[in-house]
Amino acid sequence: MAAGIVGAGIAGLSAAIALRRAGLEVEVYERSEFKNEIGAAISTPPNATAALRRWGFDFVAAQTVPNLSTRYAAAEDLGTVSESRYEDIEDVMGSPCLSFHRVDLHGGLRALATEEGVEGKGKPVAIHLGCEVLSVDCENGVLELAGGRRVRKDLIIIADGAHSKLLADFLGYQAPVQPTGRSIYRWLVSMDEVMADPELATQYRDELPGFLGWFDAQKHILWVTYTCRGGTVLNNAVVHDTAAPQNKEGAGNEKDISWHALAATDTVLATLSNFHPAARQIVSMASEDGIIEHRLFHRPPLESFVRGRTAVIGDTAHVMMPTHAAGAAIAIESASVLEVLFRDVESQSRNATGGEEAFDVEKEHIIKERLRLFDKLRIPRCNLTMIVSNAGPEGLHRPGLEQEIRRFYHGPLPPSDALPWSDEFREVLFHHDASLEAEQALRNGTSAKENGKDS
Ligand SMILES: Cc1cc2nc3c(=O)[nH]c(=O)nc-3n(C[C@H](O)[C@H](O)[C@H](O)COP(=O)(O)OP(=O)(O)OC[C@H]3O[C@@H](n4cnc5c(N)ncnc54)[C@H](O)[C@@H]3O)c2cc1C
Repeated sequence: MAAGIVGAGIAGLSAAIALRRAGLEVEVYERSEFKNEIGAAISTPPNATAALRRWGFDFVAAQTVPNLSTRYAAAEDLGTVSESRYEDIEDVMGSPCLSFHRVDLHGGLRALATEEGVEGKGKPVAIHLGCEVLSVDCENGVLELAGGRRVRKDLIIIADGAHSKLLADFLGYQAPVQPTGRSIYRWLVSMDEVMADPELATQYRDELPGFLGWFDAQKHILWVTYTCRGGTVLNNAVVHDTAAPQNKEGAGNEKDISWHALAATDTVLATLSNFHPAARQIVSMASEDGIIEHRLFHRPPLESFVRGRTAVIGDTAHVMMPTHAAGAAIAIESASVLEVLFRDVESQSRNATGGEEAFDVEKEHIIKERLRLFDKLRIPRCNLTMIVSNAGPEGLHRPGLEQEIRRFYHGPLPPSDALPWSDEFREVLFHHDASLEAEQALRNGTSAKENGKDS
């Protein structure tokens, strides 16, 4: 059985690993040459780390740093306002919460997808770089590649990111992302340089590793820092209101600005005018990659992630604000579900009697059935995570938010005053074994079928 995946970001590579392990022949089509690998760091909560661990991800080579606390402090004096510690997160949830340099997470995933000769992990994935997919026929599983070649697959996964062009083929209409009015500055600095400053050192020395967020309530800015690469690199992410460029008439239009660009140090410092001088020094410590400003976007929740032989995953399916640092995590979770659902499709199809034709008909039937189950499992989890992330720190206080969530998800919710990454939010968003849930759903579906009921 053959799968074609569009995009080799975290979602596409995770799906490739999962489907390889399920025994499929997998080809990934990636537009870029991987030369533009995005810097900065990323944190994976237990719901994602569990899958990485099962896949044999090399956490030592990736020099991960445990994430064990979330501390909020005031911008003007850097004094701690609240702290949530979770040193026992691995004991409670079964897997750790870890921070990575993005390049190391991406590199580790790529190695897992492509490594040769590993027993029980299926055939290595073929990744075609510099290979743009121009269109997709979701019903028939056909990808049109740049240059005009068409490839037909049993299963297609679209993972071409937030600015997906193929989503229009999937939905049958255009659904571009919308600006949120918020942007983020991201940059990395050497932790040695940070710790050389006595005032800054007090922010990190003797503290648990994890998120440290300085907030400026007046200008509505949150500056989150955490370490990666064995604690040697400090990741910085400053979420702030987007300053729209002025046109000749003096009016701003956010749609005119590109979605990521190098930011000038002076502009960043002007944004951070209310922050303590010690913190502001981190701006001039930026590594040679400089400070990149990214616009933050959103898209209304999708009602379904599947169509015909095709599923959408990752930011294509659910682009979200980084409030809960959960976008990649929920994509890894989705990939782990694909592994469970597609493990036995080939062997199940072989049970059909009547030769190759009957086999193909049965295979198509099972693929579509499994994709429907994928949708049933993933829509509630992914849309919940996206909706609460896009609500920002206001969370469940936001009018109408709970009703919006209840259109898709009917499980427990945190209390309305819960802060991002609080105990209550972690419990709902990150204490979840998607793989186990999929195993159970598959078993229930199979036994319902055996009993003559519709699954
Ligand atoms: C500031 C910030 C911080 C975040 N922090 C966290 C965090 O700590 N934890 C977390 O879990 N998540 C976090 N996220 C979310 C996370 O970064 C994203 O959810 C994740 O990277 C999305 O991965 P993706 O593979 O879906 O998309 P992308 O990374 O965008 O990958 C899409 C790929 O598809 C390729 N492509 C596009 N079009 C085509 C085409 N037509 N043909 C072929 N290839 C194509 C692109 O070149 C690209 O390689 C954060 C997001 C932001 C903005």
